Amino acid sequence: MNRTGSDLSTLGHRIRHFRTQRGLTLDELGERVGLAGSQLSLIENGKREPKLSTLQSIAAALDVELTDLLAAEPPNPRAALEIELRQAQQRPLYTELGLPAVKPNKGMTDEALLALVGLHRELQRKATEAIATPEEARRANTELREWMRERDNYLPEIEDLAETRIRAAGHVRGAVTHRTVSIMAEQLGFSLIYVNDLPHSARSVTDLANGRIYLPPASIPGGHGLRSMALQAMAHRLLDHAQPTSYAAFLRQRLEINYFAACCLMPQEAAVGFLSQAKRDRNLAVEDFRDAFGVTHEAAALRFTNLATHHLDMPLHFLRVSEDGSLAKGYENDGLPLPADVTGGIEGQLVCRKWSARSAFERTNRTTELYQYTDTPVGTYWCATQTGTTSAGEFSISVGVPFNQAKWFRGRETTNRAASSCPDPSCCRRPPSELAERWLGNAWPSARLHAHVLSPLPSGTFPGVDDSEVYDFLERHSGS
Ligand SMILES: [Zn+2]
Repeated sequence: MNRTGSDLSTLGHRIRHFRTQRGLTLDELGERVGLAGSQLSLIENGKREPKLSTLQSIAAALDVELTDLLAAEPPNPRAALEIELRQAQQRPLYTELGLPAVKPNKGMTDEALLALVGLHRELQRKATEAIATPEEARRANTELREWMRERDNYLPEIEDLAETRIRAAGHVRGAVTHRTVSIMAEQLGFSLIYVNDLPHSARSVTDLANGRIYLPPASIPGGHGLRSMALQAMAHRLLDHAQPTSYAAFLRQRLEINYFAACCLMPQEAAVGFLSQAKRDRNLAVEDFRDAFGVTHEAAALRFTNLATHHLDMPLHFLRVSEDGSLAKGYENDGLPLPADVTGGIEGQLVCRKWSARSAFERTNRTTELYQYTDTPVGTYWCATQTGTTSAGEFSISVGVPFNQAKWFRGRETTNRAASSCPDPSCCRRPPSELAERWLGNAWPSARLHAHVLSPLPSGTFPGVDDSEVYDFLERHSGS
């Protein structure tokens, strides 16, 4: 039968379960099936594999079906814990600690057993968590971004899947409503349930057994966040995702579910129709796209990057920059030189201070987009930047294109112009030498802790802090 160790111990537990249920001792059952009690004990402890004929005799003697003995489930919760403890103690993670293996015999209380199993589970969880080092995470992230760049940020299979599902749910035009999302869920056999007590680390929890998707309550009624989360939860099922086995697989799944949700909220056909018309009118604007589909500025900007190259024949870039000037997210297939570390990672890197992604923070009127032409060593780009605020601080969202594509956009007539020579350090990284001389030895900024493991400390005179900003700040406030 060639059974594995865990099968054998489940089988042993099932035999013991039925034997004790019938009030038989090892010797009594042994006698009925022609085995010594000690041999039967080895079978019950999963240490010996019984012949099929022996199993048939045991089943007959216990008055159960052979399939009852061979079922894969532990016979009761206690047995499940005992099996789990045995298996956990055999894993290298435990054996290499050099600690003794404890035998979960009758004398061990349920509490003691539960405590031991709980510790093993935690040990396993911690070890799994530690597998993705920040370096591995950054590398996987960079590879995925490059993979998407080769595809112009466009995944046609997911586009088609989303279009099919929302049509089936009755969506015709415009923004996708909560109602449509609920119908989609129903068609997949799920109901959406809003609860106040989700685990802190989970955005949603799906109960596959009972067909429920648990979501947090709406903080902003009508906001697109909830629709997006429900769609992401459904996407795992629609895209046949299994438990990810690596950080790269985890990131890929997250990208796919986000992509699916974006396709549902801004369906390809409707979105391309809207954007193509705006292009013909030479009136393209992310803010209009955002308002037409009832999503956030960032969601609309990201969705624009999916569709612009494939459908509008337009290379472009997208940046989300935090108020400290560091890149939180970025994408480009138009050659814009994004700042990167030696591994090619861009997250946490400081973008040029001359770019609109950063100069937008200095504006007083931020209700509309900031338009700007920026000369760079690889050509001139036109960008539109919108700023926003979260509890974590301010951020800016930029979408930009090479100069020759600016003609399709509202704001192309702007007179804002900047020159950037980054990554040349003299552009904006290295402070003017007289400032550096004056302040060297007298400035001591303390870096803010980056929230993200993907953000290493940007390098410079002061770890984690943009030194020219420090100098500017000191100049402004020291009154010299
Ligand atoms: Zn610069």
